[in-house]
Order: sequence, then structure tokens, then C-alpha cells
Amino acid sequence: MLRSELNSSTNKDGGYQSYTGQSPQHRCDECGKVFTAKGNLKLHQNTIHSATRFQCQYCQKSFKRKHHLQSHIITHVQF
Ligand SMILES: [Zn+2]
Ligand SMILES: [Zn+2]
Repeated sequence: MLRSELNSSTNKDGGYQSYTGQSPQHRCDECGKVFTAKGNLKLHQNTIHSATRFQCQYCQKSFKRKHHLQSHIITHVQF
């Protein structure tokens, strides 16, 4: 008899089974938004924070917020 196939009963769900009432929280360190799934946090950071980078046209330095870039550009155009 072939019993090897029955022996290898790995759980194909592969998920976490540690649902003990508290859901894991993943906080975005950029804006403080909290996500229950780590994938959602990654997606949030990729779409919200990585995409919206404002690059300085003078020194190629990038900033996360537009007013940071604007206040930085002032240092280039001082008279
Ligand atoms: Zn964020
Ligand atoms: Zn610059």
C-alpha cells in the first residue's frame, strides 16, 4: 500500500491560526494609519507614500510632502 500521500497532510491554507480575539495591527510610520493586514499596509505605503514623492528640480532630492519640497526649494532660489 502507498501511504506516503496520506502522510503528507500539510495544511494548504497556510494562514495564521492565532485568532485569539486581538487582531494584529500594522501601523504606517509615515502617517500613522493602522491596518489589520500587513499586505494592506505595504500596498498603502507603495501607493500613497512611494508614489507621491516630490523631487527637487535643482538637486534631485525627494520629499514626501509638497510643502517640504517647497520650503526646500526656497534654499536654492535665495537672493
Ligand atoms: Zn501612511
Ligand atoms: Zn534641492
